Amino acid sequence: MIPTIKLNDETAIPQLGFGTFLVPPEETAQTVAQALEVGYRHIDTAQGYANEAGVGEAVRASGIPREDLYITSKLTNSMHEPEDVVRSFDRTLEELGLDYLDLFLIHWPLPTRYEGDFVSTWNAIIELLGDGRLRTAGVSNFEPAHIERIVAETGTVPAVNQVEIHPYFRNEAVREECASHDIAVEAWGPLGQAKSGVLEDPAVVEVARAHGKTPAQAVLRWHLQRGDIVFPKSMRRERMEENFDLFDFELTAAEAASIDALDRGEQGRMGPDPNTFDRV
Ligand code: NAD
Repeated sequence: MIPTIKLNDETAIPQLGFGTFLVPPEETAQTVAQALEVGYRHIDTAQGYANEAGVGEAVRASGIPREDLYITSKLTNSMHEPEDVVRSFDRTLEELGLDYLDLFLIHWPLPTRYEGDFVSTWNAIIELLGDGRLRTAGVSNFEPAHIERIVAETGTVPAVNQVEIHPYFRNEAVREECASHDIAVEAWGPLGQAKSGVLEDPAVVEVARAHGKTPAQAVLRWHLQRGDIVFPKSMRRERMEENFDLFDFELTAAEAASIDALDRGEQGRMGPDPNTFDRV
């Protein structure tokens, strides 16, 4: 049974889901169908991944009741103007073939674009909550100052912030900011996107070995015990199963601390810096 996390808008989100970044559009329906078979009920997609249609196809073909699924998408960077927010949200529901979306996020704050105005974008997202087609509104890649600004200027606190987090980049400043506003944290790239080497790190390998688990399972368990939401991505069924099999062991405090100690601060960041990232 996958634990759920209660959000600040009183809705609940499964703490473990399935990510779809870089899942090619033509392979998405089949990949997501496998994830649903394995047991995942929370799927993370984005307008920018160009695979919402495949997610929707798999969801609709699965026969799983809509209320048992949790679907997230994200506003793409070229759509920050308020009228574009509404248009592109309509398009997302069409692509998915769904009546409502569980969670919609501003994908990146883009503080150097749109004259630095991500507040109007946030206001447009909040307005979507009014007509029953969006359950929960959140942000992604928001740094503490970005969160402070939207909260101060709109009075509406996002329910989640989805940011890069893995053992080499614990991103504690953002996690502390989120905790202070009761914003749930979603950790993207939870496995360090494999290429970072997190899964080969001797400290991770040691913790995994102690439990007869794989390095990926040890790292995902570390995230869950920190209270963050994760949705690892894999296109291989055996890894989907591995990444789902996290609930029969627990890291000791010392083991969790040995993974905490891998943090490299800003040097551990794999993705772009949200303060300067401006690709639309
Ligand atoms: P991830 O950390 O989940 O790593 C995925 C890669 O790890 C896979 O492609 C595979 O190569 C490898 N892998 C997966 N399972 C493994 C296992 N058990 N053993 C060994 N290797 C394994 O990285 P991600 O996909 O970038 O992040 C997860 C999800 O977060 C994405 O799919 C997407 O939904 C979301 N995301 C959001 C943003 C954002 O800006 N909001 C950015 C990146 C990702």
